[in-house]
Formats: sequence, C-alpha cells, structure tokens
Amino acid sequence: MILRPSPNFGDRKLPVTMAVIHYTGMRTADAALDTLTSPASGVSSHYMIAEDGTVFALVDEGKRAWHAGAGEWRGITDVNSASVGYELVNPGSEFGYTPFPEPQIAALVSLLRGAFARYAIRPANVIGHSDLAPTRKDDPGELFPWPMLAAAGLAARVPVLDNVPRGTPNGFEAAPDPGWTDAGATLALGRYGYGVAETKAALVAFQRHFRPSRVDGVWDAQSRAALLALLRAEGL
Ligand SMILES: [Zn+2]
Repeated sequence: MILRPSPNFGDRKLPVTMAVIHYTGMRTADAALDTLTSPASGVSSHYMIAEDGTVFALVDEGKRAWHAGAGEWRGITDVNSASVGYELVNPGSEFGYTPFPEPQIAALVSLLRGAFARYAIRPANVIGHSDLAPTRKDDPGELFPWPMLAAAGLAARVPVLDNVPRGTPNGFEAAPDPGWTDAGATLALGRYGYGVAETKAALVAFQRHFRPSRVDGVWDAQSRAALLALLRAEGL
C-alpha cells in the first residue's frame, strides 16, 4: 500500500455501513491520482486501486472522503459519511471502458474484507456509484464482476436468470416473474434501496448491477424476477 494523502476529507457524521465502488473514468492512473489528491478538485476516495493491484491510500477510513456526491441508498443521503469509497483505475465509458484485471479485483476484495472486519457492512450495502446516483453516474459499469464479490460474501448475490433453472450452483434461489406493473416494479426498486425519482435511470442502474446482459431501462420478466429474488434474500 502506498500512502498518497488527499486533503479532500472531513468528519464522518454517520457510522460506516456501506462501501461504494467506482471507476476513475480518466485516461491514466496518474491523472486520476492527481485529481483525487488535488485541493482544487474537491474530490477524493479512501483508496485508489491500479490495474496491477497497487493500492494507494488517500484518506483515512475514519474520515469522510468525498466520492459519492448527491444521491441516496436505503434512505441514506449523506453516503460519504456512511461509506468507504474505492476508486478502480479504468478509463471508463468516456475514454475506453475495459474489463477489470484480476489483480485489481483481488486487491479490492482484500480491502473489503478488512472493512467488513472493522465495520457493520452488509453485503447488500456494497454498491456501485451508479446505484446511489443513477441520474449522474454509470460507474463501475456493467463489466464490474459483482458475482466475484458476491461469491466472496462481499456483495449481494446476482440472480442468474438466463437459461439457468432454480436452485443452481451459485446458490441463488431464482424467483418467478411477479408480474408487477411498471409502477409496481418501480416501487419495489425503491424498497430495495434505489432512489426512484427518475424511474428509467434507476432501472438502468439496477440492470447494470444485477442484469448486465441487457441494460435498456425497460422492465421485463427477468428484471422483475431478479428484483424479487433480491428482495426475498434481504427479507424485504
Ligand atoms: Zn464514481
């Protein structure tokens, strides 16, 4: 771990109950590191992880880093106060989105395990930036390996729906299509934790995370079934 202190932080106002995954969305790791540690930028995160797995520690976990911005998750609007923030180096959708290399994800898993040991973070509260800010953000994007995190017990399990029967080896009991209306499905999305003021954006964020094979913002049987399965798994 390489210490690169950022001046962009404050005091937490809430206990840590969440983790937020980002990509940097810049051309190079150096450019991202400059931004995350520059007083002028007003942004930071607790960690930045390079493609080769090198971890840069930017803000002490006890402090409130400035990575989430406006948004909400499960009623929490000051997400920065309640979360640890992780930036993964990746050019992102603007500069050439690429798969996340294995060493980078391994480093993230290691950091998350530490956070889980120190704080009361539920797997379902490990989310992407786009999950809490669906109208503004698309990171970490549909290539992020949520199932790998889920397999490690560090994120909500992702329902496997395409041509896979119930009770499959990933252990996730698939749910049937509950047949909700679009309005009813949006209510269910809000119940799971999404801010649903902008309904299509919220659904796009949900699909990016839980049904990445088709991110189109249109409710269909698989999206509804995935959401029902997640609600059941959370006891919601
Ligand atoms: Zn982000």
